[in-house]
Amino acid sequence: MILVTGSAGRVGRAVVAALRSRGRIVRGLDLRPSGTGGEEIVGSLEDAEAIFKAMDGVSDVLHLGAFMSWLAADRDRMFAANVEGTGRLLDAASLAGVRRFVFASTGEVYPENRPEFLPITEDHPLRPNSPYGLTKLLGEELVHFHQRIGRMETVILRFSHTQDAAELLDEESFFSGPRFFLRPRIRQQQSLGNTAVADLLQSHDVGEPSHILARNENGRPFRMHITDTRDMVAGILLALDHPKAAGGAFNLGADEPVDFAALLPKISSLTGLPIVTVDFPGDGVYYHTSNERIRNTLGFEAQWTMDRMLDDAAAARRRRGAMEQGQ
Ligand code: NAD
Repeated sequence: MILVTGSAGRVGRAVVAALRSRGRIVRGLDLRPSGTGGEEIVGSLEDAEAIFKAMDGVSDVLHLGAFMSWLAADRDRMFAANVEGTGRLLDAASLAGVRRFVFASTGEVYPENRPEFLPITEDHPLRPNSPYGLTKLLGEELVHFHQRIGRMETVILRFSHTQDAAELLDEESFFSGPRFFLRPRIRQQQSLGNTAVADLLQSHDVGEPSHILARNENGRPFRMHITDTRDMVAGILLALDHPKAAGGAFNLGADEPVDFAALLPKISSLTGLPIVTVDFPGDGVYYHTSNERIRNTLGFEAQWTMDRMLDDAAAARRRRGAMEQGQ
């Protein structure tokens, strides 16, 4: 029995489906029901009883459940879920004699938004500058602790930024909405309390919905990895089963970062919306993370290029449009 935490989330749902399609026995644990059927416990990582129940008869754990937030008001909740929850889950897994524990960490532990060198390898110093990144680094420390003192095999995966392809062209989606659409970005910056940035963005509003091409203060377009959930699933399954994964820490993500100056015209040609270019104060986002270790050690191969993701995203956008018209 494999326990998957975060089983109602973007990555967790896809991992559960992939495991079940391969005939593996899976139990989900999440705050909310996944709606996908199959065995799952609706409960919190903060609840010792829920974890105790979830761990019954479990051989392996894929710990994908976490609270991702960049709002100051969410800090306590985030530490409770991501740090204390991870510690509690590790304790229970260790006690239950679990064989392997895979932990979903993040590139924010380096952090990617202020790298000391490129490409970022697993040997890059770990100095997160967001509370979220800090919760994940503390989670990694808890994993190392259990690896030292116990018998459980552990694997740390530092996830790239991850999207379902359909999210890329969806202005309502959590990540791509504010990343690629101007008005959702304005709302996001207002909710984060960044009024100066929100005002800057507002001054670029052309009176109709538009995309945003983000650049830094010197006009350098943002560049980052955006990995398809399906590639993440492939990497997670390797971390679960590959003998050489035990004890390792691996970057997991697409081979190449995406240059926003090349991406935005493609996005705009699919939505028909204009692009406004905004130069943000500061260095902006510009990184490249190496996935060489996971490719060479576990045989990981990313399949979903940005162009393939965009094909899927366009089809999903057409389906959403047809449904809205039908309503
Ligand atoms: P997601 O938000 O879609 O899924 C996370 C799930 O965890 C949600 O279903 C949520 O309900 C659940 N959860 C939150 N707090 C919980 C708690 N206290 N108890 C039980 N369940 C709880 O996120 P995702 O994109 O599927 O990410 C999966 C993992 O990968 C997370 O650990 C995340 O931190 C990490 N990660 C994601 C990205 C990304 O870009 N999506 C990047 C780096 C790392």
